[in-house]
Amino acid sequence: MSRNSFVQRLIPQWVLDGAAYQVADASGMVKLDAMENPYVWPTELRQSLAARLAETQLNRYPDPQAAALRQPLRDWMRIPESLEVLFGNGSDEIIALVISALIGSGRAVCAPDPSFVMFSVLARHYQVPFCPLPLDMAHDIDVLAWQQALNSVDAGVVFVPQPNNPTGNLFSKDRLKAVVEGTDALVVIDEAYTAFTDADYLHWAADFPNVVVMRTLSKVGLAGSRFGLLIGDPQWIDQFDKLRLPYNINVLSQTAVQFALEHADVLERQSAAIREERTRLTDALRTRGITVWHSEANFLVAVMPAGQAHAVFSGLKELGVLVKCLDGSHPMLTDALRVTVGTPEESDAFLAALDQLVGGGR
Ligand code: PMP
Repeated sequence: MSRNSFVQRLIPQWVLDGAAYQVADASGMVKLDAMENPYVWPTELRQSLAARLAETQLNRYPDPQAAALRQPLRDWMRIPESLEVLFGNGSDEIIALVISALIGSGRAVCAPDPSFVMFSVLARHYQVPFCPLPLDMAHDIDVLAWQQALNSVDAGVVFVPQPNNPTGNLFSKDRLKAVVEGTDALVVIDEAYTAFTDADYLHWAADFPNVVVMRTLSKVGLAGSRFGLLIGDPQWIDQFDKLRLPYNINVLSQTAVQFALEHADVLERQSAAIREERTRLTDALRTRGITVWHSEANFLVAVMPAGQAHAVFSGLKELGVLVKCLDGSHPMLTDALRVTVGTPEESDAFLAALDQLVGGGR
C-alpha cells in the first residue's frame, strides 16, 4: 500500500478536507492583526530576564504545578481565596481541555456567533457538537434565542467572551445573568481582554455554581509565552486538572511569567497606553467618516465603504500594514476590518495608509 493510502485510511475525511490554522506572514509589517501588545520591555529589564532565563534548568522537566507563579498571579489578579487556578499553554489549550471533557457525552459546546474562532475549531477537533448562539443588532445576547438553542442541543459548555472578539463589546450583565441562571451548562466567561475594560466578572466564579472564568496573559505583553488561566471553584478545577497534560507550561514560560509579574507595573502602564490609544484611533477614524464600533478590547472594528473591505485590506498590506479582514466571515461583519490598537506610531502608519486607499486621500 502507498503512503498516501495509509494516510487516507487513518485520517478522517473531515481532517483530510480541512486546512491547518493559518497565520499571515507579518515580517517587516506594521502588525495590527492579532491583538498583541506592541511594546517591548525596556532594555535593562530584558537583560535581567535573560540572566534569569540563563539559570533555568532546561535539562529538568518543569514544575507541573508552576507553583512559584501561583501566589504572584493570585495577588496581581486579586483572585479570591475560595477559587482555584489551572494554567494552560495559552487559553487555547484551556478551551481544548474544557471541550475534551464533553467527548462522548453528546452534549454541545456553544458560543456567540460571531465570536472567537477556536471555540468551534476545537469542538470540531474533538467531534463535539457545536452550536452558534445568535447576537442581536446591537451585538448583545439574544436571551430567548440563546435559551432555545441551549435547550435544543443539550448544551454542556457555553463560552462567553466578555468583551467579545471580534465585535469588541461587553454583553449586558442582566442578559448574561439570565443565561447563566437558565442553563445547566457550565458557562466559561472568557476575560481575554480584561486589561482593557473596567468590567470584571471574576467573582461570578464564586457566586454562581456553573461559572468559571478564563484569562490570558497574551494581550498584556506575553503572547509569546503562551500562558492562560482557568479560575473557578476547586470542584470544577480539580476535574479539569485531570485532563491537563502534566508539563504543559514549559520552564522558560514559567520563568518569564514570574519575572513579568515582578514588573507588573510595566505591563499595566502599557495596557493603559493601549486604552488611551484606542480612544485616539477611534476618534481619528470617526473624523474620517468611518464607522467604528464601540470597543472594550485592544482592537477596533472599522466598517469600510460598501464592498471595499477586501480591497482596502490588500491595499493596506501592500503599504506594509497588516490588519484582519472580517468581511465574508459573518453577515454581521460585512465590510468590516479588525485593527489591533498598537503604538501611536503604528496607528499613524495605519491611518496614513488608509488615507491613500479610502476617501480620496487627505
Ligand atoms: N479568547 C479570546 C476571546 C481571544 O480573542 C483569544 C485570542 N485572540 C483567546 C481566547 C486566545 O488567547 P491565548 O493567546 O491565551 O490562547
